[in-house]
Amino acid sequence: MRARKTKRMKYRTVLLFGAPGSGKGTQGKILGTIPGLFHFACGDAFRNLRITDPLGRTFIEYSSKGQLVPDEPTIDLWRRNIEASRINRTFDPDHDIMVLDGIPRNPRQAEILKDTLDVRAVFHLACVDMEKMVERLQRRALRENRLDDANLDIIRQRLETYELETKPVLDFYGPKLVHHVDSTQMPLNVLRTILDTIAALDVTK
Ligand code: ADP
Repeated sequence: MRARKTKRMKYRTVLLFGAPGSGKGTQGKILGTIPGLFHFACGDAFRNLRITDPLGRTFIEYSSKGQLVPDEPTIDLWRRNIEASRINRTFDPDHDIMVLDGIPRNPRQAEILKDTLDVRAVFHLACVDMEKMVERLQRRALRENRLDDANLDIIRQRLETYELETKPVLDFYGPKLVHHVDSTQMPLNVLRTILDTIAALDVTK
C-alpha cells in the first residue's frame, strides 16, 4: 500500500535553467553533493549512453547539430534514470529534493512532466553577455572533450535553440517560481543565492 502511494507521488523539484555555458553544470555538480538534494543532468545521461545504444546514436545525431533530441525518448531516458536511482537508493523521493539540469527543455517536455514534478523553484542563470558564454563553452570543449562545444557554428546553433525552444519554459512556470540569478557573478555567489532559496522553501509541504 505504502509503496504504491510513494510511486504516485510528485517529486519535489527545483530546476537549474539557463543557456549553454551559463554555469548550470558547475552548480548542479556541487548541489548534488549536498545531503537531501539529488541532482540529475540530462546531457550527462545522454553522454553516459553506450555508443551501441540506439538512443546514444540519436543523441549524437541531434546534439552535433546543436538541436534538441526528440521529446519522447528524452523523457523516457529521464524516467529510466530516476527509477534506477530510486532502486539503488541514491534518490529517496520521500526526503530528497530533485535538482534537474537540462530538463524540461521545452514547454512540451514541461507539459509531459507536469503530473510527475512538483516544481518549487526555477533558477534562471542569466547571462547577458553572449560572448562570455561562447568563451566558457570553448574552454569546456578542451577540458571535457565535448564535440558540441568545439565548433563555433554549433555553439551558435545551441544558443539559438535555447532562445527559441527552451526559454519559453520560463513562461510555463511563471514569475512566482522563477528566480533570476546573475550568472556572471562568482560561482560561489551563484551557489549562495540558490542555496538560500532552497533552504527557505518549505519542503515539508
Ligand atoms: P548545454 O546545456 O551546455 O547545451 P547539455 O549537456 O545540457 O549541454 O546538453 C547537451 C545536448 O544534449 C543538447 O544540446 C541536446 O542535444 C541534448 N539534450 C540534453 N537535454 C535534453 C532535453 N531535455 N531534451 C532534448 N535534448 C536534450
